Amino acid sequence: MPWGNIVRPDKISQPAGIYIHIPFCLKKCPYCNFFSTPDLSLKESYIKALFHEIDHYNGCLLSFDTIYFGGGTPSLLSAVEISSILKKLFKHFKIQKDTEITMEINPGTAGAKNLQGYIASGINRINIGVQSFQDKYLGFLGRIHSARDACMALISAKNAGFSNIGMDLIYGLTDQSLKDWENDLQKALSFHPEHLSCYMLSYERKTPFYQARQNGHILPPDENLLGTFFSFTWDHLSAHGYTPYEISNFSRVDPKIEGLYRSRHNQKYWTFAPYIGLGPSAHSYMDPMRFWNIKSVDGYIRKIQSGNSPVAGKETLTLEQQMIESVFLGLRTKEGIDLKRFEKKFGPVFSSIFSKPLKKLEQKGYLTLSDTFCKLTPSGMRFHDSICDLFIGAMP
Ligand code: SF4
Repeated sequence: MPWGNIVRPDKISQPAGIYIHIPFCLKKCPYCNFFSTPDLSLKESYIKALFHEIDHYNGCLLSFDTIYFGGGTPSLLSAVEISSILKKLFKHFKIQKDTEITMEINPGTAGAKNLQGYIASGINRINIGVQSFQDKYLGFLGRIHSARDACMALISAKNAGFSNIGMDLIYGLTDQSLKDWENDLQKALSFHPEHLSCYMLSYERKTPFYQARQNGHILPPDENLLGTFFSFTWDHLSAHGYTPYEISNFSRVDPKIEGLYRSRHNQKYWTFAPYIGLGPSAHSYMDPMRFWNIKSVDGYIRKIQSGNSPVAGKETLTLEQQMIESVFLGLRTKEGIDLKRFEKKFGPVFSSIFSKPLKKLEQKGYLTLSDTFCKLTPSGMRFHDSICDLFIGAMP
């Protein structure tokens, strides 16, 4: 597949995002289904291949306002390596001045010196994978770091000068009580992060945790308790100055600028903005097309070395698929589904197509509908997936 064919969209005016997948982890966490390998011997060849992939976007007419280093474990790359990738990106892409440049940090791999190096190289936002402030849960999750490491990373990041710090936390763990979770949230809040992502532990297919749950070796908390965790998280963080702007994401309220600390990059995924994904397994989206790279570090390097595209597949989303995604993603966000945009894109009036589920959900207090937006209430968010099924069932 020729690279240029799919990467030179010249009719898109919205600023785009760049995602760089760093496909290495020191050790695989048993709940994780993101693509990564512990074989660091390929790191140098991977970076060379990444540079070649960037070269092939030469002449790309998009302009970008976000760059996101995700993984895997981006903090396994040195500041010098991150800086060289950023220089390459700035040379080859039209990147706006105020671009948000985020890097995911694993507390087990990022010392004070690294963090100083990352900020010097141009990273202006970091997201630290804390997951829990209690060692027993970090052990359960198979993380390579301790709670102390996580605290040290947060302190070092502040000392290095980062002023936009996010952290990831996971709840709904076996034997975790609501009090345990409240303690984690309190500890997180004591660092005054600009952003918090709170994920309910999920059991993804093909992970050891999925298998363990199937075999009865892991017993998740019951549904009621999970619901309580979810509502508590929303209430607690809202009461402490954070806006839940997406089902799992909370940004610190800034009195002057609404939404200042939201993840600009992640919002692209929820609003169908274009983005380019670089590196093994990375996905790209240019409305209405999605394409993705080969899910193998070795395969990615070989493809590129032999002058071929690392793109392993692509699909053009049908109008029906796009409608499903608009509902699914829109209902995850605080603003909800933008009805003007929906009707401009798909034609029929939203409230007419979905009159049945809308009536039912409004009566239950799970949803609100105005002339311009349809959004879930906090209690509706708890049932996001089953609510989306109702919408899909009502589709024309
Ligand atoms: S460190 Fe992150 S990406 Fe790597 S295995 Fe663990 S959860 Fe997955």
